Amino acid sequence: MIASRLSTVRDRLSAACKAAGRDPASVRLLAVSKTFGDDAVAQAIAAGQLAFGENYIAEGVEKIIALRQYPLLEWHCIGPVQSNKTRLVAEHFDWVQSVDRLKIAQRLSEQRPPHLPPLQLCLQVNVDGGANKSGVTPDELMALIQEVIKLPRLRLRGLMTIPEPAIDFATACAVHSEARALFDKVNRAGLLTEPMDTLSMGMTADLEAAIASGSSMVRVGTAIFGGR
Ligand SMILES: *Cc1c(COP(=O)(O)O)cnc(C)c1O
Repeated sequence: MIASRLSTVRDRLSAACKAAGRDPASVRLLAVSKTFGDDAVAQAIAAGQLAFGENYIAEGVEKIIALRQYPLLEWHCIGPVQSNKTRLVAEHFDWVQSVDRLKIAQRLSEQRPPHLPPLQLCLQVNVDGGANKSGVTPDELMALIQEVIKLPRLRLRGLMTIPEPAIDFATACAVHSEARALFDKVNRAGLLTEPMDTLSMGMTADLEAAIASGSSMVRVGTAIFGGR
């Protein structure tokens, strides 16, 4: 069941890339396994999926520990990170995509264990001023980046967005294109020794629009694991 859904999602990604004239290898698929158990994740692993996203930190850490026998997994924290949860994120996840404040980034850097590689970071940006309120505003992004790149145990990989649901494809593309423009602007600004390589945007409902607009990572839950 999960294997066939995953293959349908992969087909959607390839078709979207083809329609946009993009190389399918330029878009990564993150399987969002929040609320689903270890068995569901194991089925996705058996079908070749290795990168997983979790929203709720305690739940994610339980799964990371339970699935330790699979060595190649890559775990992304994509949910809100409060100060009292930074240690769990720093000690267990490979990536965190949902950071929008310097204080949280500083704690993550301080708490990243020395034996692990740097924590891979995306900054969450509120591109559409949407009601979800999480995310740094585009105006504040450059200042945050200037500080975040000084933190030794984090590696800035890109930006993440969660726009409000759009009424149609064109509207979705308009918002995603703004995120892409911001991403390109940061890379052109010359602040970074290594340019960002990850623009994480697009979910089950809008992955085609996100890919058409330049996403490099889509985060898909429902279409792989079913309704929550
Ligand atoms: C739940 C969630 C997703 C996946 O959403 P679906 O619509 O189920 O594909 C992606 N990103 C974030 C941040 C989420 O919370």
